[in-house]
Amino acid sequence: MKAWITFLRGFTLKVYYPILMLLGAFLRSKRTSFQAYIIKLNNSLVMQDSYKINKILLLLPHCIQNSKCDVRLTFDVFKCKRCGMCKIKDLIELSENNGIAISIATGGTIARKVVKEEKPDAIVAVACERDLSSGIVDTYPIPVLGILNERPYGPCIDTTVSLEKVRHAIQWFIKNSHQDKKQ
Ligand code: SF4
Repeated sequence: MKAWITFLRGFTLKVYYPILMLLGAFLRSKRTSFQAYIIKLNNSLVMQDSYKINKILLLLPHCIQNSKCDVRLTFDVFKCKRCGMCKIKDLIELSENNGIAISIATGGTIARKVVKEEKPDAIVAVACERDLSSGIVDTYPIPVLGILNERPYGPCIDTTVSLEKVRHAIQWFIKNSHQDKKQ
């Protein structure tokens, strides 16, 4: 890991981000674009480096599960029946095919708990601008590649994500790491 990248990420997430959020408290219409900017900046900084990675975690938001599905996935995503009515099925297959961990979090507190328990060396996270930017800040210095969800039905319900972007992020970590499996 390059020290200057870690420092720049730290500065971006721990100094620049709070300043932007303070500014966003006054310029409310800009808040989401500030958060999206921080996510983009973080991703480009993460991709300037390479990492010693034994474990990658794919962390997903609960709202990606079909709202009509009654399977409880929070503590075990593998309870999904893989009916294909939402992207959870494809995301589980992506994680299996790449030998990485996968989890669903219902919010920031659960996400932090999952990260604490799973102890990943790198994270591919999917969420909205607010949850993703704050999650990246909270999990620093773990390298996180953040991918924004898509919200065809509005926020927090039946959201989706580009599988291509998720696959690309996972592959990037795999290609830029030394993997001695511990899962
Ligand atoms: S793919 Fe899994 S999570 Fe999605 S609707 Fe089907 S059973 Fe539920």
